[in-house]
Amino acid sequence: MSILNSGIWEASPLYKNAVLQLEEAGRVMKLDPNVLERLKRPKRALIVSVPIRLDDGAVAVFEGYRVQHNMTLGPGKGGIRYHQDVSLSEVAGLAMLMTFKCSLVGLPLGGAKGGICVDPTRLSRLEKQSLTRRYTSEINMIIGPDKDIPAPDIGTDAQTMAWMMDTFSQEQGYAIPGVVTGKPLDLGGSHGRAESTGRGVVYTIIETAKHLGFDIDENTTVAVHGFGKVGSVAAEEMALLGAKVVAVSDVDGGIYNRNGFNMKALLAYYQKNRRLAGFPESEPITNDELLALKVDILIPAAIDGVIHSKNVAKVKAKVIAEGANGPINADAHKALVERGVFIIPDILSNAGGVIVSYFEWVQGMQNFFWSEAEVNEKLKSIIVNAFHRVVDGMHRHKTNDMKTAALIAGVDRLNRAMLLRGLFP
Ligand code: GLU
Repeated sequence: MSILNSGIWEASPLYKNAVLQLEEAGRVMKLDPNVLERLKRPKRALIVSVPIRLDDGAVAVFEGYRVQHNMTLGPGKGGIRYHQDVSLSEVAGLAMLMTFKCSLVGLPLGGAKGGICVDPTRLSRLEKQSLTRRYTSEINMIIGPDKDIPAPDIGTDAQTMAWMMDTFSQEQGYAIPGVVTGKPLDLGGSHGRAESTGRGVVYTIIETAKHLGFDIDENTTVAVHGFGKVGSVAAEEMALLGAKVVAVSDVDGGIYNRNGFNMKALLAYYQKNRRLAGFPESEPITNDELLALKVDILIPAAIDGVIHSKNVAKVKAKVIAEGANGPINADAHKALVERGVFIIPDILSNAGGVIVSYFEWVQGMQNFFWSEAEVNEKLKSIIVNAFHRVVDGMHRHKTNDMKTAALIAGVDRLNRAMLLRGLFP
């Protein structure tokens, strides 16, 4: 029985979906109801005001959050999101997903997330730096290499992490690189961290192909929704495997070529022009049309909630790899699974990012750094192993719903740890 029920957590669709999925997993695995009740809410949340001076001299105040969902297995871990739709409830839902993700892939880390409600594309570099520094300073009492370790997410990158690391270190008086991951290489970042999420997505697709018995070759069609840090790398890696990437999109819309893109040329074009439109030998396509393409593999790698009850009937992909966190809502997910679509769930498919963040943290503590080949090999081994554990779980629980099986695997490890630690006081 929960005593407090203000409804504050349930305010966002992402949080509600995460709880619905947790409840379903709890039902199938017959989870201890006391543990279920505890996992439905975050451990701790901090709301901060982030005032900054804009370039025109005016002061603007933004709202920031850091939520620690569960820290049974180790320090909190999770990204920092800068986006205009960020809310306390959304950050809490994302922190919950981080808990299950870290547990599923066997990391000694808990789940956390942070964010600021801001459209970063409207800020200058200086304004973004001020925002990052003040936000870091406001949350400094709950983060740290042994407490909670932020990383990049939507709207943040290696430079953002460098500013966070510097601010935190300045306040303590010495360099503390382990306070964040996803740092630039020159500041103790890890080789392969920037590409790790996209690469991990593709490693899980390769295992899916083996599991379902199909080859990835020039007849395999792929559509990628979102062309940022995750989508662009996943598209590139799929093309390197020989697949035909026929459609990609970003916030402004997408492009289509039924014969598949020359990915090298496309990446060069995007880097130069910062847009997809106008790429030679392609026709424009809307984001909705891309999601409805008849392709073998769809990779929604932009943001949550893009496949929902209103557009799910149009989705024709055979395999969907969730590159973003929560791109398919609970209703749509159920409908797709019933239709036999194979969905590689976010907490498995996009876990590559946090796995290599963990490697970065470990390398930093040892002051001993690995080659990119070593990072990729270790990443592959962890994510492929988790994939097979989840598939075994699907057989054991007689379900074709991989999301439920992945959650069960994550929650199961956590449940054992929570029961061993017991309830304080
Ligand atoms: N933001 C990424 C995620 O959602 C990475 C988090 C991390 O590396 O800590 O998984």
